[in-house]
Amino acid sequence: MVACPCGSGQSYGDCCRPFVKGELEPPTAESLMRSRYTAYVRRDAGYLHRTWHPTTVPTTLDVEAVEWRGLEVLGSTRGGADDDEGTVTFVAHHSTGVISTGQMRETSRFVKQDGRWLYVDGDVD
Ligand SMILES: [Zn+2]
Repeated sequence: MVACPCGSGQSYGDCCRPFVKGELEPPTAESLMRSRYTAYVRRDAGYLHRTWHPTTVPTTLDVEAVEWRGLEVLGSTRGGADDDEGTVTFVAHHSTGVISTGQMRETSRFVKQDGRWLYVDGDVD
């Protein structure tokens, strides 16, 4: 079994893979957030662009710069299957070199449009 990079404890095939492959839509803001983290780990810029709100999507995205080491989801507000907006707060651990490691804490905002969750933006603490 290949563990899912998002740290859910499930296998990749049962967790983020169907979302990243476009076979299923993430049902909640948290599942979209987890699948986007997985896409960062797997350097899948296409999925990140696809799941970014058109008003905030960057024109270029550097997915090579940072090595992601782990994800902890701290909490969320709304973002459920029956909501159309929500936030997810998480800590992502990373390293950018042999000795440079750190973590990023962000509260991300998501909206659901035409039945699809999209990442809007986030506040980094
Ligand atoms: Zn996952």
